[in-house]
Amino acid sequence: MRIVVPAGGIGGARFLRGLRAVLGTGAGTPQEQSTGSITVIGNTGDDITLFGLRICPDLDTVMYTLGGGINEEQGWGRDGETFTVKEELAAYGMKPTWFGLGDRDTATHIVRAQMLAAGYPLSAVTEALCDRWKPGVRLLPMTDDQVETHVVVDDGDGRRAIHFQEWWIRHRAALPAERIVSVGAEEASPAPGVLKAIDEADAVILPPSNPVVSVGSVLGVPGIREAMAAKTVVGVSPIIGGAPVRGMADACLRAVGVETSAGAVAGYLGADLLDGWLVDEADAGTEVEGIEVRSRPLYMSGPEATEAIARAAVDLAVELAAGKGERG
Ligand code: GDP
Ligand code: CA
Repeated sequence: MRIVVPAGGIGGARFLRGLRAVLGTGAGTPQEQSTGSITVIGNTGDDITLFGLRICPDLDTVMYTLGGGINEEQGWGRDGETFTVKEELAAYGMKPTWFGLGDRDTATHIVRAQMLAAGYPLSAVTEALCDRWKPGVRLLPMTDDQVETHVVVDDGDGRRAIHFQEWWIRHRAALPAERIVSVGAEEASPAPGVLKAIDEADAVILPPSNPVVSVGSVLGVPGIREAMAAKTVVGVSPIIGGAPVRGMADACLRAVGVETSAGAVAGYLGADLLDGWLVDEADAGTEVEGIEVRSRPLYMSGPEATEAIARAAVDLAVELAAGKGERG
């Protein structure tokens, strides 16, 4: 089975670990034993240039998580990380100081910056970085073009747009957002291989990633949403019982005028896109017109629980694809 997954960082990466186990495509799995393939279309809207380095937080979170280099407790960044470079930069008075730039992580950003400066597109850089991490999935950035999520805020000093990372990390999303803008999205095109992977996929599965600034950013690259909508699409709700499981997705949903509930998020993603939607047991009874909603436990509390969620998503996709086939 060929599956395409548009993914953000922590929620996406953790789900992908479960999906990889379900499809038997784990790192090091011989081809003949594998029962499928996974292409991840990574969100690059969070990307930011700091200290001359291009940083791609979501691509790196997926790569480190699936490659065994993630800080498990934190969910992002390298394991065994130290922060000497960050301290030294601060000693020079370099700004910003709010970004958690680790020493090990910095090596990744140096490789990326060097390759980008030499003229390689981000997709080629990502492939080169994955040569080391062997994530067991094909990891593609959503685009090779520069697309950045900016947030329009008004903190009393007037309205201004700040980079998503500044809003998310420095302000903990506590500054009310008037608007969230995907700068550069309209002129962007999908990275090489993205549309082909979707076209050849048996299903698209949306992990429990942030619906606005992760999945929403990927869908905002012209051509991607349309290509996915032609497929059987099943999503996993990142909202349980009216709240995000972790992070501040509710602040993002507020900015786009969507209620923080599993049902409202499905409606926001759209019945033209979604065929099926998994919600937690706490949200059993949720109904969304035009979308098959099923409830089951959705906390990714450990490898087994996560694998079971991924299996449920795959099973629902298979079931709905069969129905789609019957209806023609
Ligand atoms: P980010 O880029 O690191 O913010 O990560 P993502 O966009 O991939 O995922 C963030 C979303 O994952 C948040 O909205 C969380 O609510 C959701 N999430 C995290 N852990 C879980 C979990 O165990 N179960 C579910 N259903 N959602 C989760
Ligand atoms: Ca992210």
